[in-house]
Amino acid sequence: MKETAKTKGQILSETLTAKKENIFEKQTDKTDAIFAYAEGYKTFLNAAKTEREAVTELVAMAKKNGFREWKLGDPVERGGAYWFNNRQKNLFLFRIGQNDVARDGVRIMAAHIDSPRLDLKQNPVYEDSGMCFFKTHYYGGIKKYQWTTIPLALHGVVILENGEEVTVKIGEDESDPIFYINDLLPHLAQEQSQKPLGTAIPGEKLNLLVGGFPYPDENVSEKIKLNVLSILNEKYGIKEDDFISAEICAVPAYTARDVGFDRAFIGAYGHDDRVCAYPIATAIFETEDREHTTLVILADKEEVGSDGNTGMNSIILRDVLDSIAASLGADPILVRANSACLSADVTAAYDPNFSDVYEAKNSSMISCGTTMCKYTGSRGKSSTNDASAEFVGTVRRLFKENGVTFQTAELGKIDLGGGGTVAKYISHVNVDTVDVGVPVISMHAPYEVISKADLYSTYEAFLAFCKLCRNN
Ligand code: MN
Ligand code: MN
Repeated sequence: MKETAKTKGQILSETLTAKKENIFEKQTDKTDAIFAYAEGYKTFLNAAKTEREAVTELVAMAKKNGFREWKLGDPVERGGAYWFNNRQKNLFLFRIGQNDVARDGVRIMAAHIDSPRLDLKQNPVYEDSGMCFFKTHYYGGIKKYQWTTIPLALHGVVILENGEEVTVKIGEDESDPIFYINDLLPHLAQEQSQKPLGTAIPGEKLNLLVGGFPYPDENVSEKIKLNVLSILNEKYGIKEDDFISAEICAVPAYTARDVGFDRAFIGAYGHDDRVCAYPIATAIFETEDREHTTLVILADKEEVGSDGNTGMNSIILRDVLDSIAASLGADPILVRANSACLSADVTAAYDPNFSDVYEAKNSSMISCGTTMCKYTGSRGKSSTNDASAEFVGTVRRLFKENGVTFQTAELGKIDLGGGGTVAKYISHVNVDTVDVGVPVISMHAPYEVISKADLYSTYEAFLAFCKLCRNN
């Protein structure tokens, strides 16, 4: 084809106009790497459906990558790589660089590893009308109707009266039974169908069907409940009272699968926020940077407000930074002041099926790369970190220098809702922080969808961030 010279207007338009680009279309040299990276992510997702399981998986990966266990107060060495396991629900991974940590700060990369789910109540077991159920209390922001009539698995731990810890995982193996939440048949749902979605399934109806076979003894009542308890006792040594000291979660019994004929997307439970946790963990494992000190935080409790001693609002981040500073003889105030953070959490991908809630110019477009959110929050930017223009400028330059495709976005239209992230808890300790993350379709649903291109772009963003220079 004959090349025609570009007009002045065309050249100006290319130079001056901002555009989002579909990575699959514009960066075909990365296609193989994008698809290969997604395979490791799916394996991780299938093994890590709760924050506890995510910690176990990531510690195993850390070991393989030469990291050593560290505890608060332990010394650190330049060149060392460590993990700190905070109560099996919150994990820190860090590498001590060669630079002066007071002058150079720490490159902090944060994400959360808890996801919306249904927790068992402390006194969950009851029998009614030929069925045995577990009562649940939902965890995080869910559309409750989505959790009925799908296969659910139980994951968690029980601390028995004698202190022994029992791990529960049932419903994942093809030969395992699954659990189920009943819904009303359409034939009798005339009244239910008239209700708003948010009230059609009240929280107290999220009861898990767990049994229906009676214990064969005429002399006992609640035979089905007794039979369930007897199976639990045989398999795990659990008595009904042991649920008091248990954390058992009902999560979708689905595995991560490719979505679409072309396999561009991944459907899975818990992309929010393991789709960010995995890239930041692999970035610190794989970075070749040995100059800078880098630290990954994988927080618990984000979905319920980041409180508690494993949530990002705990002073544990400050304690870890201060402990590292003390071991290196550095002033912790300077360490924090010179640190920088990319806080990774998912954002809402623009969905043409629900275009009315998005402002298209400032929405995250699927497959257009990791999304930087200068601010989050709701209404008039309530409860936002709102990164400074200067820090956004720094990160933007870094991404450009390292060939990272990114986009910017807000979460939906103003005044239609909103949401926050852990970024504000990190900036609270005087660290420059900005949000980045993967756009998600159907966020918080039992099965969410992301693009493999955005997953890979987030990994590239964090590899670049490990190299960020400060004050030198
Ligand atoms: Mn999240
Ligand atoms: Mn979330």
